[in-house]
Amino acid sequence: MRYSIQSRGDDLSNDLAARAKQYLNDFGLVYDEKEPDIVLTIGGDGTLLHAFHRYRDRLADTAFVGVHTGHLGFYADWQPPEIEKLVISIAKHDYDVIEYPLLEVAIQYRNDMNDAVYLAMNESTVKSPDVTLVMDVELNGMPFERFRGDGLCVSTPSGSTAYNKSLGGAIIHPALPAMQLTEMASINNRVFRTVGSPLVLPAHHTCVLKPVKGPDFMVTVDHLHLLHKDVKTISYRVADERVRFARFRPFPFWKRVHDSFIDSDVR
Ligand code: NAP
Repeated sequence: MRYSIQSRGDDLSNDLAARAKQYLNDFGLVYDEKEPDIVLTIGGDGTLLHAFHRYRDRLADTAFVGVHTGHLGFYADWQPPEIEKLVISIAKHDYDVIEYPLLEVAIQYRNDMNDAVYLAMNESTVKSPDVTLVMDVELNGMPFERFRGDGLCVSTPSGSTAYNKSLGGAIIHPALPAMQLTEMASINNRVFRTVGSPLVLPAHHTCVLKPVKGPDFMVTVDHLHLLHKDVKTISYRVADERVRFARFRPFPFWKRVHDSFIDSDVR
Protein backbone atom coordinates (compact mmCIF):
# COMPACT_ATOMS: atom_id res chain seq x y z
CA MET A 1 0.00 0.00 0.00
CA ARG A 2 1.19 3.50 -0.82
CA TYR A 3 0.73 6.39 1.57
CA SER A 4 1.61 10.02 1.99
CA ILE A 5 1.65 12.36 4.96
CA GLN A 6 0.71 16.03 5.04
CA SER A 7 1.77 18.02 8.09
CA ARG A 8 0.57 21.50 9.17
CA GLY A 9 4.25 22.36 9.50
CA ASP A 10 4.55 23.16 13.21
CA ASP A 11 7.11 21.28 15.34
CA LEU A 12 4.62 18.90 16.97
CA SER A 13 2.96 17.98 13.66
CA ASN A 14 6.32 17.56 11.89
CA ASP A 15 7.62 15.36 14.70
CA LEU A 16 4.52 13.14 14.61
CA ALA A 17 4.72 12.98 10.81
CA ALA A 18 8.35 11.79 10.99
CA ARG A 19 7.42 9.10 13.55
CA ALA A 20 4.42 7.94 11.54
CA LYS A 21 6.57 7.74 8.40
CA GLN A 22 9.20 5.67 10.19
CA TYR A 23 6.58 3.23 11.55
CA LEU A 24 4.78 2.88 8.23
CA ASN A 25 8.04 2.26 6.36
CA ASP A 26 8.95 -0.37 8.97
CA PHE A 27 5.65 -2.08 8.17
CA GLY A 28 6.66 -2.17 4.51
CA LEU A 29 4.33 0.54 3.24
CA VAL A 30 5.63 2.74 0.43
CA TYR A 31 5.76 6.51 0.75
CA ASP A 32 4.32 7.91 -2.48
CA GLU A 33 3.31 11.56 -2.64
CA LYS A 34 1.99 11.26 -6.20
CA GLU A 35 -0.36 8.28 -6.00
CA PRO A 36 -1.12 7.43 -2.38
CA ASP A 37 -3.89 4.99 -1.41
CA ILE A 38 -4.13 6.67 1.97
CA VAL A 39 -3.24 10.21 3.04
CA LEU A 40 -2.49 10.85 6.69
CA THR A 41 -2.82 14.49 7.70
CA ILE A 42 -1.36 15.84 10.90
CA GLY A 43 -2.51 19.28 12.05
CA GLY A 44 -6.18 20.16 11.93
CA ASP A 45 -9.16 20.38 9.65
CA GLY A 46 -7.32 23.09 7.69
CA THR A 47 -4.50 20.59 6.99
CA LEU A 48 -7.01 18.03 5.76
CA LEU A 49 -8.62 20.67 3.50
CA HIS A 50 -5.20 21.36 1.97
CA ALA A 51 -4.60 17.62 1.41
CA PHE A 52 -8.04 17.22 -0.16
CA HIS A 53 -7.26 19.93 -2.73
CA ARG A 54 -3.83 18.50 -3.38
CA TYR A 55 -5.29 15.09 -4.24
CA ARG A 56 -8.48 16.42 -5.83
CA ASP A 57 -7.75 14.48 -9.06
CA ARG A 58 -7.58 11.08 -7.40
CA LEU A 59 -10.42 11.18 -4.89
CA ALA A 60 -11.77 7.82 -6.06
CA ASP A 61 -8.44 6.12 -5.23
CA THR A 62 -7.42 7.88 -2.05
CA ALA A 63 -8.76 7.76 1.51
CA PHE A 64 -7.97 10.46 4.08
CA VAL A 65 -7.40 10.19 7.81
CA GLY A 66 -6.45 13.05 10.12
CA VAL A 67 -4.66 13.49 13.43
CA HIS A 68 -5.37 16.75 15.23
CA THR A 69 -2.54 18.50 17.00
CA GLY A 70 -4.79 21.41 18.04
CA HIS A 71 -8.37 21.15 19.24
CA LEU A 72 -10.68 18.32 18.13
CA GLY A 73 -11.16 18.42 14.39
CA PHE A 74 -14.19 17.39 12.41
CA TYR A 75 -12.17 15.69 9.74
CA ALA A 76 -9.04 15.18 11.85
CA ASP A 77 -10.36 13.18 14.77
CA TRP A 78 -7.33 11.19 16.01
CA GLN A 79 -5.15 12.39 18.88
CA PRO A 80 -1.29 12.42 18.93
CA PRO A 81 -0.94 9.68 21.64
CA GLU A 82 -2.93 7.35 19.37
CA ILE A 83 -0.45 7.57 16.48
CA GLU A 84 1.02 4.06 16.97
CA LYS A 85 -2.44 2.48 17.15
CA LEU A 86 -3.46 4.35 14.02
CA VAL A 87 -0.32 3.36 12.11
CA ILE A 88 -0.81 -0.34 12.98
CA SER A 89 -4.43 -0.17 11.75
CA ILE A 90 -3.28 1.51 8.52
CA ALA A 91 -0.58 -1.14 8.00
CA LYS A 92 -3.08 -3.96 8.60
CA HIS A 93 -5.55 -2.23 6.30
CA ASP A 94 -7.97 -2.57 9.19
CA TYR A 95 -10.45 0.16 8.26
CA ASP A 96 -13.68 0.93 6.47
CA VAL A 97 -14.11 3.70 3.96
CA ILE A 98 -16.92 6.19 4.40
CA GLU A 99 -17.81 8.81 1.81
CA TYR A 100 -19.04 12.38 2.25
CA PRO A 101 -20.73 14.57 -0.37
CA LEU A 102 -18.92 17.46 -2.02
CA LEU A 103 -19.97 20.70 -3.70
CA GLU A 104 -19.32 21.48 -7.36
CA VAL A 105 -18.68 25.14 -8.16
CA ALA A 106 -18.74 26.18 -11.83
CA ILE A 107 -17.87 29.75 -12.78
CA GLN A 108 -18.86 30.93 -16.23
CA TYR A 109 -17.26 34.07 -17.65
CA ARG A 110 -18.66 36.76 -19.97
CA ASN A 111 -15.68 36.59 -22.28
CA ASP A 112 -14.72 33.40 -24.10
CA MET A 113 -12.70 32.00 -21.23
CA ASN A 114 -13.42 28.37 -20.32
CA ASP A 115 -15.54 27.75 -17.23
CA ALA A 116 -13.60 27.26 -14.02
CA VAL A 117 -14.80 24.20 -12.10
CA TYR A 118 -13.90 23.52 -8.47
CA LEU A 119 -14.79 21.01 -5.78
CA ALA A 120 -15.37 22.18 -2.22
CA MET A 121 -15.21 19.96 0.83
CA ASN A 122 -16.50 22.69 3.21
CA GLU A 123 -18.04 25.51 1.23
CA SER A 124 -17.82 28.23 -1.38
CA THR A 125 -18.58 31.86 -0.62
CA VAL A 126 -19.18 34.82 -2.92
CA LYS A 127 -18.52 38.42 -1.97
CA SER A 128 -18.17 41.63 -3.88
CA PRO A 129 -14.66 43.12 -3.67
CA ASP A 130 -15.79 46.65 -2.79
CA VAL A 131 -19.56 47.20 -3.05
CA THR A 132 -22.65 45.44 -1.70
CA LEU A 133 -23.12 42.07 -3.36
CA VAL A 134 -26.19 42.08 -5.61
CA MET A 135 -26.99 38.71 -7.15
CA ASP A 136 -30.07 37.14 -8.65
CA VAL A 137 -30.50 33.68 -7.17
CA GLU A 138 -32.01 31.02 -9.42
CA LEU A 139 -33.04 27.62 -8.06
CA ASN A 140 -33.47 24.87 -10.66
CA GLY A 141 -33.66 27.46 -13.43
CA MET A 142 -36.40 29.43 -11.63
CA PRO A 143 -35.83 33.01 -10.42
CA PHE A 144 -35.97 32.87 -6.62
CA GLU A 145 -34.80 36.19 -5.17
CA ARG A 146 -32.53 39.17 -5.66
CA PHE A 147 -29.94 39.11 -2.88
CA ARG A 148 -28.35 42.30 -1.54
CA GLY A 149 -25.90 42.07 1.30
CA ASP A 150 -22.40 41.05 2.32
CA GLY A 151 -22.29 37.67 0.60
CA LEU A 152 -23.62 34.19 0.07
CA CYS A 153 -22.28 30.84 1.26
CA VAL A 154 -23.01 27.40 -0.16
CA SER A 155 -21.79 24.55 2.01
CA THR A 156 -21.52 20.78 2.02
CA PRO A 157 -22.98 18.71 4.89
CA SER A 158 -19.53 18.13 6.42
CA GLY A 159 -18.75 21.83 5.96
CA SER A 160 -21.99 22.79 7.72
CA THR A 161 -20.09 22.91 11.04
CA ALA A 162 -17.61 25.45 9.64
CA TYR A 163 -18.39 28.89 8.11
CA ASN A 164 -22.03 27.89 7.55
CA LYS A 165 -22.54 27.44 11.28
CA SER A 166 -21.21 30.94 12.00
CA LEU A 167 -23.83 32.25 9.57
CA GLY A 168 -26.69 30.55 11.43
CA GLY A 169 -26.99 27.63 9.01
CA ALA A 170 -28.16 24.20 10.12
CA ILE A 171 -25.77 21.36 10.86
CA ILE A 172 -26.46 18.66 8.28
CA HIS A 173 -25.46 15.02 8.66
CA PRO A 174 -23.01 14.05 5.88
CA ALA A 175 -25.09 10.99 5.03
CA LEU A 176 -27.42 13.43 3.27
CA PRO A 177 -26.29 14.38 -0.25
CA ALA A 178 -27.25 18.03 0.00
CA MET A 179 -25.97 21.60 -0.16
CA GLN A 180 -26.98 24.56 1.97
CA LEU A 181 -27.31 28.22 0.92
CA THR A 182 -26.84 30.77 3.71
CA GLU A 183 -26.89 34.55 3.64
CA MET A 184 -24.31 36.97 5.01
CA ALA A 185 -26.06 40.09 6.32
CA SER A 186 -28.80 40.50 3.71
CA ILE A 187 -30.46 43.88 3.37
CA ASN A 188 -34.13 43.39 4.17
CA ASN A 189 -36.66 46.23 4.25
CA ARG A 190 -39.81 47.35 2.38
CA VAL A 191 -37.86 47.61 -0.87
CA PHE A 192 -35.39 44.72 -0.75
CA ARG A 193 -36.43 41.22 0.27
CA THR A 194 -34.74 37.85 0.59
CA VAL A 195 -36.06 34.65 2.14
CA GLY A 196 -33.80 35.18 5.17
CA SER A 197 -33.62 31.46 6.08
CA PRO A 198 -30.89 29.01 5.09
CA LEU A 199 -32.05 26.75 2.25
CA VAL A 200 -31.13 23.05 2.03
CA LEU A 201 -31.14 21.69 -1.51
CA PRO A 202 -30.98 18.02 -2.48
CA ALA A 203 -28.70 16.39 -5.04
CA HIS A 204 -29.62 17.20 -8.67
CA HIS A 205 -30.92 20.67 -7.73
CA THR A 206 -29.00 23.67 -8.96
CA CYS A 207 -28.39 27.07 -7.46
CA VAL A 208 -27.18 29.68 -9.94
CA LEU A 209 -26.02 33.16 -8.96
CA LYS A 210 -26.30 35.84 -11.66
CA PRO A 211 -24.53 39.15 -11.05
CA VAL A 212 -26.70 42.27 -11.10
CA LYS A 213 -23.88 44.59 -10.01
CA GLY A 214 -20.44 43.44 -10.79
CA PRO A 215 -18.77 41.78 -12.78
CA ASP A 216 -15.83 40.96 -10.46
CA PHE A 217 -16.27 38.74 -7.40
CA MET A 218 -14.23 37.28 -4.61
CA VAL A 219 -15.04 33.58 -4.64
CA THR A 220 -13.71 31.23 -1.99
CA VAL A 221 -13.53 27.46 -2.24
CA ASP A 222 -12.62 26.18 1.24
CA HIS A 223 -9.35 27.97 2.11
CA LEU A 224 -8.74 29.16 -1.47
CA HIS A 225 -9.58 32.81 -2.24
CA LEU A 226 -9.65 34.10 -5.82
CA LEU A 227 -10.85 37.27 -7.49
CA HIS A 228 -12.82 36.23 -10.59
CA LYS A 229 -13.24 38.86 -13.28
CA ASP A 230 -16.03 39.21 -15.83
CA VAL A 231 -18.27 36.64 -14.18
CA LYS A 232 -21.48 35.65 -15.98
CA THR A 233 -22.80 33.01 -13.57
CA ILE A 234 -21.69 30.97 -10.57
CA SER A 235 -23.43 27.58 -10.41
CA TYR A 236 -23.61 25.19 -7.50
CA ARG A 237 -24.70 21.57 -7.32
CA VAL A 238 -23.94 18.51 -5.21
CA ALA A 239 -20.90 17.02 -6.96
CA ASP A 240 -20.80 13.56 -8.53
CA GLU A 241 -17.45 12.98 -6.79
CA ARG A 242 -17.25 12.19 -3.08
CA VAL A 243 -14.43 12.41 -0.59
CA ARG A 244 -13.39 9.13 1.09
CA PHE A 245 -12.31 8.86 4.72
CA ALA A 246 -10.65 5.86 6.33
CA ARG A 247 -12.67 4.99 9.45
CA PHE A 248 -10.90 2.77 12.00
CA ARG A 249 -13.50 2.97 14.76
CA PRO A 250 -16.97 4.42 15.20
CA PHE A 251 -16.98 8.13 16.01
CA PRO A 252 -20.49 9.26 15.13
CA PHE A 253 -20.94 12.68 13.54
CA TRP A 254 -23.28 13.89 16.30
CA LYS A 255 -20.68 12.90 18.90
CA ARG A 256 -18.12 14.99 17.04
CA VAL A 257 -20.59 17.90 17.01
CA HIS A 258 -21.20 17.43 20.73
CA ASP A 259 -17.50 17.23 21.57
CA SER A 260 -16.62 20.26 19.46
CA PHE A 261 -19.40 22.62 20.38
CA ILE A 262 -20.96 21.46 23.65
CA ASP A 263 -18.48 19.69 25.90
CA SER A 264 -15.52 17.41 25.24
CA ASP A 265 -15.01 16.19 28.86
CA VAL A 266 -17.33 13.21 28.52
CA ARG A 267 -15.30 11.66 25.67
P1 NAP B 1 -8.70 29.18 9.34
O1 NAP B 1 -9.30 30.55 9.49
O2 NAP B 1 -7.28 28.97 9.68
O3 NAP B 1 -9.57 28.10 10.17
C1 NAP B 1 -10.91 28.16 10.31
C2 NAP B 1 -11.37 27.25 11.46
O4 NAP B 1 -12.39 26.39 10.93
C3 NAP B 1 -10.30 26.34 12.06
O5 NAP B 1 -10.48 26.30 13.47
C4 NAP B 1 -10.61 24.99 11.43
O6 NAP B 1 -10.21 23.90 12.24
C5 NAP B 1 -12.11 25.06 11.38
N1 NAP B 1 -12.75 24.15 10.41
C6 NAP B 1 -12.38 23.85 9.15
N2 NAP B 1 -13.25 22.98 8.61
C7 NAP B 1 -14.17 22.72 9.56
C8 NAP B 1 -15.32 21.90 9.61
N3 NAP B 1 -15.71 21.19 8.55
N4 NAP B 1 -16.07 21.89 10.75
C9 NAP B 1 -15.71 22.62 11.82
N5 NAP B 1 -14.63 23.41 11.84
C10 NAP B 1 -13.88 23.46 10.72
O7 NAP B 1 -8.95 28.74 7.84
P2 NAP B 1 -8.43 27.48 7.05
O8 NAP B 1 -7.69 26.57 7.97
O9 NAP B 1 -7.82 28.00 5.82
O10 NAP B 1 -9.84 26.81 6.71
C11 NAP B 1 -10.72 27.38 5.80
C12 NAP B 1 -12.08 27.26 6.41
O11 NAP B 1 -12.23 28.28 7.38
C13 NAP B 1 -13.18 27.51 5.42
O12 NAP B 1 -13.52 26.35 4.72
C14 NAP B 1 -14.29 28.02 6.32
O13 NAP B 1 -15.20 26.99 6.67
C15 NAP B 1 -13.61 28.48 7.58
N6 NAP B 1 -13.94 29.87 7.81
C16 NAP B 1 -14.82 30.16 8.79
C17 NAP B 1 -15.22 31.45 9.01
C18 NAP B 1 -16.20 31.73 10.11
O14 NAP B 1 -16.62 30.77 10.77
N7 NAP B 1 -16.61 32.98 10.28
C19 NAP B 1 -14.74 32.50 8.23
C20 NAP B 1 -13.82 32.17 7.21
C21 NAP B 1 -13.45 30.85 7.00
P3 NAP B 1 -8.69 23.52 12.51
O15 NAP B 1 -8.21 24.47 13.55
O16 NAP B 1 -8.78 22.11 13.02
O17 NAP B 1 -7.93 23.62 11.23
